[in-house]
Amino acid sequence: MPNGTILRSYSPATGEVVGSLPLTEIPAIPGMLAKAGAAQRVWEKRALAERLRFLPRLRAELLTRKEEIARLVSWETGKPYPESLTVELIPALDMIRFLEKEAERILRPERLGLGWFVHKRSILEHIPLGVVGIISPWNYPFGIPFTQVTAALIAGNAVLLKPSELTPLSGRRLVEVFGEAGLEPDLLQLITGEGSRGEALVSAGPDKIVFTGSVATGKKVMGAAAQALIPLTLELGGKDPMLVLKDANLERAANGAVWGAFTNAGQVCASVERCYVERAVAEEFIAKVVAKAGRLRQGSPLERAPGGEVVAKPVDIGPLINETQRRKVQAQVEEALALGGKVLCGGEPRSDLPGYFYPPTVLVNVPPGAAVWREETFGPLLPIAVVDSAEEGIALANDSRYALSASVWSQNRRQARAVAGRLEAGTVWINDLIYTYGLAATPWGGYKESGLGRTHAAEGLRDFTQTRHRNEGYYPLKSEL
Ligand code: NAD
Repeated sequence: MPNGTILRSYSPATGEVVGSLPLTEIPAIPGMLAKAGAAQRVWEKRALAERLRFLPRLRAELLTRKEEIARLVSWETGKPYPESLTVELIPALDMIRFLEKEAERILRPERLGLGWFVHKRSILEHIPLGVVGIISPWNYPFGIPFTQVTAALIAGNAVLLKPSELTPLSGRRLVEVFGEAGLEPDLLQLITGEGSRGEALVSAGPDKIVFTGSVATGKKVMGAAAQALIPLTLELGGKDPMLVLKDANLERAANGAVWGAFTNAGQVCASVERCYVERAVAEEFIAKVVAKAGRLRQGSPLERAPGGEVVAKPVDIGPLINETQRRKVQAQVEEALALGGKVLCGGEPRSDLPGYFYPPTVLVNVPPGAAVWREETFGPLLPIAVVDSAEEGIALANDSRYALSASVWSQNRRQARAVAGRLEAGTVWINDLIYTYGLAATPWGGYKESGLGRTHAAEGLRDFTQTRHRNEGYYPLKSEL
């Protein structure tokens, strides 16, 4: 919460203050943009091969500091320490590897074939945009901005990063790591504070905005960016469906459901937020999911030992980020129950723990109009509906204003691929789930209200550039005769 010129960060697991840092003053933002622009004009003149030489140093810093970073992320978000160490850091390392291996190929100028226009040569160049504003959420406060910042810099841009006000220390640590690896400070600067700082960043007029967050805020950002025609990438929310066909491996599918719905306490853009299972296997599948959900250990990820040393605790699921989020989850459960739904496990906030804990909750018999089927929950709720055919499952899965990711589970590969081909989503998984979103080599993003554009992969890297088309009349010049 902001307090004067200081922004404090609190642990959602214990309520303790994790730390504080200075709040960026709004009038300072245009000056930061100008400094970033000046640094970028020097940076873009360096050959790509030279910019890429920064990456081994960045990797070395990450590897040296990984435990310390993971501890900080677990304090600020409440997520289990092993998840901070893996799901926040592996995508970061994977992006470095991807850029080292692929950036030259993706950003190299391309010669276009012009058919019978043999006297012309056309070349496409992928040139930097300038200064990119990156606005981030709190749910993966290190991994998400890290991959975006790294790709933007390697493409030749400077970055102003505005992390969530709920996880500012993870954002600051990210910027420090780039500095420790030797990046010129003005090329990557930190803007701290709540949404008004994000608004000020957009209105200062960067050359691009990459926004990751809720649909409601994404629409505001797009409206503001429209005033200056600032190009945008929007990574927004989801209500991702999972479709379990009657020939699925139920053990694997149940593991997928539990991981997909409850990891990070369900606070994942690509969480499994709806599950449709064919009638023939519904009873067995649901029983497996409930049994596995009941075995998850919930609690604070870290504990201070009597000597003051911080130790990781063996937990599988942490708290929600704040009380607002917990109330939203509870309201969806209450509405589902009022409409005739049934809770098979969970269903009440944890009053036995400090912090904002909500247990893994499985719901059945919830009628289609309920919010838990339609609105992003961003919490550990899994509504499961029984369907009479794959066809019915596909129709229900696609009946959503979101289209981020979806999964289909079947042991018949042909059928699974055919179903996958009809699911409306930016990423469709077959017998697999969720952490493919962290892969640097695969494009990430959604459509409908889940967003615009892609991050990661060739698409994401090129989205940090603009295309300059060079056309030459190709006939001998005087100097060449
Ligand atoms: P949010 O929209 O509340 O905030 C995101 C960021 O925007 C924060 O840094 C916030 O301070 C800033 N902000 C708020 N108002 C702003 C404004 N008017 N102008 C500019 N910036 C503003 O989202 P959140 O609660 O931090 O994150 C959760 C949401 O993010 C969920 O909906 C989730 O699905 C989504 N998300 C999407 C992806 C993806 O890749 N598609 C990944 C992670 C999270």
